[in-house]
Amino acid sequence: MTARQYDVVIVGGGPGGTSTALSLLNTDPDLKVALLEKTSFEKKRVGEILKPAAQSLLEHLGVWQEFLEEQYPPAGYIRKIWGRESAPNNTVLPPTEDHQGWDIDRRAFDNLLFELANQKGVHTFANHELMECEKSANDAWHLKAQGPNQESFNFEASFLVDATGQSPFIAPKQGAHRVRFDRLVGVFVIFKNDAQVQDSSVMAETNPHGWWYSILLPDDLTLAAFMTDNDLVGDLELIKSKKWWDLLRQTQFTYPRVKSCTPISDFCMRIADSYLLDHVQGDGWVSVGDASARLDPLSGHGMCWAMQSGIYASDAIINRLRGNASDLSTYQQHMEREYQNYLLERMQVYSFETRWAENPFWQRRHKTERMDPQLKSFLSNGRRNLEETQNFNFFHGFQDKLAV
Ligand SMILES: Cc1cc2nc3c(=O)[nH]c(=O)nc-3n(C[C@H](O)[C@H](O)[C@H](O)COP(=O)(O)OP(=O)(O)OC[C@H]3O[C@@H](n4cnc5c(N)ncnc54)[C@H](O)[C@@H]3O)c2cc1C
Repeated sequence: MTARQYDVVIVGGGPGGTSTALSLLNTDPDLKVALLEKTSFEKKRVGEILKPAAQSLLEHLGVWQEFLEEQYPPAGYIRKIWGRESAPNNTVLPPTEDHQGWDIDRRAFDNLLFELANQKGVHTFANHELMECEKSANDAWHLKAQGPNQESFNFEASFLVDATGQSPFIAPKQGAHRVRFDRLVGVFVIFKNDAQVQDSSVMAETNPHGWWYSILLPDDLTLAAFMTDNDLVGDLELIKSKKWWDLLRQTQFTYPRVKSCTPISDFCMRIADSYLLDHVQGDGWVSVGDASARLDPLSGHGMCWAMQSGIYASDAIINRLRGNASDLSTYQQHMEREYQNYLLERMQVYSFETRWAENPFWQRRHKTERMDPQLKSFLSNGRRNLEETQNFNFFHGFQDKLAV
């Protein structure tokens, strides 16, 4: 079977993959780019809040007007119940007045970017799952994908982009490993709302062993998740439903939100750890978005991270195709620097909660002196003075609201 020939094949049609595709074509309309996506965006996707930082990224990608035409509602406020010793009762922060972004339908948003990439000249293949990839002696990538009726399609490319999300397909095969900075997981239950639910905020409420996350979902549902470390799930016996409910009942704000709702799911656990690949690029490939690194869900910045990394990756790819090999290492340095900034901001946000500083969950997230050696050495390369810059790009809305 003859292979379809491309300059660049991008695998994964989430925000990371589509942004890379759009950005490549914006810079060089003559490039031949294919975008493979294993689904047809039919299933529910997580992540509903698109932060304000997305505006400049969508403008850069040339799709801002099309996004506005979708008329997504503004996101509700974010309510953080993050305490201090001086405020022994949980501190309820007033609803934030500033712009919190948009409440989007992820299936529709991802599909919109995929369609727009197609309109700009990207060859899009929905329902095509990458099954195999290997590099030949002449440095070309040979890819095998499975189509909607299990038929095989072959592709050849000079450059490959891994945008396959949190279970990356390509980077591990090229020897990349995850460097994990925590072991965060969420143990959650989904509730059917009663008629009374008015509060559309995203809520984060701390606890001695982690924090509660709750959010309204489409179709009259609410999700309540206890976010803690993987090892503490066992220590707290959280998988036993009674313990989870005991902790929920101890909350001041999360429990009242769901107590008259009906639980409709079993207990589910979802990994939400922060990681960065030890290398996000290699000979003829890069990874973008969650395939390269994941952020704490508290930041709500995952889609912006994915789009931003796609834009940076596209510059590196174009320069690489034009013969400038050093641009891939520039991309590596950029991603490391951004991730260092993220970790420093994350540390500062977690350090606003001081009441349980000796408990393992909080201790692990507080000051540098207590950090594990790996994190300390990683940050020592990129440390900057956050007190001076107050540059909360990753945790928009936290700084002024929490400094009470
Ligand atoms: C519970 C939860 C809540 C979140 N809430 C938010 C939020 O409110 N705001 C926010 O900004 N972020 C949020 N995030 C993070 C956000 O969802 C991700 O960071 C974002 O989706 C990353 O985009 P991506 O394109 O890198 O990966 P994805 O969106 O995961 O896209 C990867 C794509 O690759 C495709 N794929 C995978 N393997 C293959 C293959 N072999 N062949 C072809 N295609 C393949 C998948 O089908 C998928 O479409 C949340 C995450 C979680 C877990």
